[in-house]
Amino acid sequence: ITLYDPVDDHKICVCVRKRPLNKKEKLKKEIDVITIPDKSMLLLHEPKQKVDLTKYLDNQVFKFDYSFDETATNEMVYRFTAQPLVNTLFEGGMATCFAYGQTGSGKTHTMGGDFTGKNQNSSNGIYAFAARDVFLLLSQPRYSVLDFEVYVTFFEIYNGKVFDLLNKKNKLRVLEDSKQQVQVVGLQESLVSSEEEVIRLIDMGSSFRTSGQTFANSSSSRSHAVLQIILKHHGRLHGKFSLVDLAGNERGADVCSSDRQTLVEGAEINRSLLALKECIRALGNNQAHTPFRMSKLTQVLRDSFIGENSKTCMIAMISPGMSSCEYTLNTLRYADRVKEL
Ligand code: ADP
Ligand code: MG
Repeated sequence: ITLYDPVDDHKICVCVRKRPLNKKEKLKKEIDVITIPDKSMLLLHEPKQKVDLTKYLDNQVFKFDYSFDETATNEMVYRFTAQPLVNTLFEGGMATCFAYGQTGSGKTHTMGGDFTGKNQNSSNGIYAFAARDVFLLLSQPRYSVLDFEVYVTFFEIYNGKVFDLLNKKNKLRVLEDSKQQVQVVGLQESLVSSEEEVIRLIDMGSSFRTSGQTFANSSSSRSHAVLQIILKHHGRLHGKFSLVDLAGNERGADVCSSDRQTLVEGAEINRSLLALKECIRALGNNQAHTPFRMSKLTQVLRDSFIGENSKTCMIAMISPGMSSCEYTLNTLRYADRVKEL
């Protein structure tokens, strides 16, 4: 495999991925408001509403490390986002890859593979590609002599609480010791020795995530899912790669619902996505103080935001349709804010 050599010392990579219009949207004659002329540029054409002239705006231009259009495959997105981070893991660093965006924009499709209908193909997502490359690298002589062990954890953060997706969705406690070391007590770490084993665990864990919910209401849109690939050397931590399928960012805007539960959840999601932004910015600016305690998500991922050898990649997913325009703009602005300057 050809892994990117991280010649530059950038700690943060921010990319955006546009999904294609789906059948339903095409039937509704939904207009595509996103154009990606080349990988370095993304244009959002705001709907021109004649009635309200204040809403009439020119194209908005965004620039990211990479903009993927609707023809990009998961494998391609992987190559430019998460794959370079496999190096970080082997170098003994903390690597993190976030999928950010509105519900339905393609976060789970990108990370977990295609889950359309009953056919679940998790071998076609970033989780599986990362696992594949980890075992490929491990089989190379320079690493195979080192006796690394690979562990996987998979958990969900919902409403500020942590649930173990590899262990009957047990609720777990998060403890921080006097040295600010954060520990998720009792989190199942499964020893794995092949990509297939990882895929089996992902399938099992994912089934806990979505059980018995309709799509629009699914609990998965209101929770963050974290898959970690951990490299150990004789039982001691060497490096960690966290792959995070974030809660739908539109849920953070649920601030005027009449349902108390929805309100509480929305506030929590809002807080965690805000905290995430601040922590990534702190990493990019080599800031001494990282506000990781602002949310459970950032607290659990604390190690990812500190240290010389931490690298982060954010993939901002966007829906192309006019009716998603406002959320898309929110997503693009958020992604723009976490870019390293
Ligand atoms: P999210 O996890 O952000 O809520 P999903 O990943 O579940 O969104 O995607 C919503 C739907 O759109 C799914 O049916 C998924 O298969 C489809 N989809 C998402 N991204 C793509 C893509 N790039 N190409 C084709 N279909 C996609
Ligand atoms: Mg999802």
